[in-house]
Amino acid sequence: MSQALRPEAPAVDSSDAALRARARAVIPGGLWGHLNVAKLPEGYPQYFTSAEGCRLRDTDGREYIDFMCSWGPIVLGHRHPVVEAAARRQAEQGDCMNGPAPVLVELAELLVDTIPHADWALLAKNGTDATTACVTIARAATGRRKVLVARGSYHGAVPWCSPSLAGVTAEDRAHILTFDYNDIASLEAAAEAAKDDLAAVIITAVRHDYAAHQDLARPDFARHLRELCDATGAALILDDVRAGFRIDLGGSWEPLGVRPDLSAFSKAIANGYALAAVTGRDRFREAATQVYTTGSFWCGAVPMAAALATITELRRINGPARMKAMGERLRAGLDALSRQYRLPVRQTGPAQMPLMIFDNDPDWAKGDAFCVAALRHGAYFHPRHNMFLSCAHAEADIDRALEAAEAGFRAVARG
Ligand code: PMP
Repeated sequence: MSQALRPEAPAVDSSDAALRARARAVIPGGLWGHLNVAKLPEGYPQYFTSAEGCRLRDTDGREYIDFMCSWGPIVLGHRHPVVEAAARRQAEQGDCMNGPAPVLVELAELLVDTIPHADWALLAKNGTDATTACVTIARAATGRRKVLVARGSYHGAVPWCSPSLAGVTAEDRAHILTFDYNDIASLEAAAEAAKDDLAAVIITAVRHDYAAHQDLARPDFARHLRELCDATGAALILDDVRAGFRIDLGGSWEPLGVRPDLSAFSKAIANGYALAAVTGRDRFREAATQVYTTGSFWCGAVPMAAALATITELRRINGPARMKAMGERLRAGLDALSRQYRLPVRQTGPAQMPLMIFDNDPDWAKGDAFCVAALRHGAYFHPRHNMFLSCAHAEADIDRALEAAEAGFRAVARG
């Protein structure tokens, strides 16, 4: 019987522990995918009630300075007033209709204006939609099958690329070949194996594999990849789902001077509203027309209005530069604490997407102890996954988070 039908329903316990216990009965594993905090050390909350700016509040009433930003989507800050106002205005007009609202065209124009390699844009809901569409468009355009993927890179949660092999058949991966990120020789070997059947190379903007130090793309590697695709006619697909709109608004490889043929964006594109985009060059326009891309909610106008407001605001305030400055402040503070407590760490990745891993920490004991103590002192860090800055992080927030981080270093020093 549902709660609502019971004559005297008991007051609902919405503590984190009670919600987790109820979820175990009705949700496989308690929660799907990477958001399941069972993968984190004890002490992380699973459920949240509210968020504003760079602050996050859990169901037990504790508040944190947020360095995960919803795993990337929150780029301007939670519930940013400009984005919320734009979304509200659109919601009052209509969201899910028989076709798109005018905002679709405005947003596609803004994407083409903002991203130098983009001659066109199409929209979807999730990063996986966008990466999968890129691969399919590349195959349709080239009439070839093989796709090169860097070992350990994450591109989504469907059989061609899922990190779990449960339910995946060998046939699903039949035309996927792998190489090592930033390794020209292994890229060449994989291209050689694909022979004249090479449709595409897909690559993340940064090597940000789970539970590993990050690596920025080496400029010579990126240039070599561009040359390989030009020489073979394969599509260079940049998976900018995670880094997009944080490193450079024109696409994360703009600073390297290497432009992809197709890009996949999602996460930060609409400051938390569900949206993804594929952008591409004219050479792939016809294939993008032929490939069947659609979804029940893909024309939702509210996320598009949110994206229009988000990208316009990021351009106005130069969001990437702001996040970089705050990320560098965090990095410098963590380095100073690491020296003070004589606990060496390695910090990697772009400053906007930081990751700190302790030296000599094979079982993550130090990283876990650090994060649990920092969490107790009000900073939400992640021990193994790259974190995210938003434009809502100000100097005072970083300094406050560094006080929590000091509690983390003290905990590790105590062993
Ligand atoms: N590519 C990359 C680089 C990602 O980080 C992610 C999400 N973590 C995806 C693709 C898939 O995006 P989504 O979870 O929105 O499907």
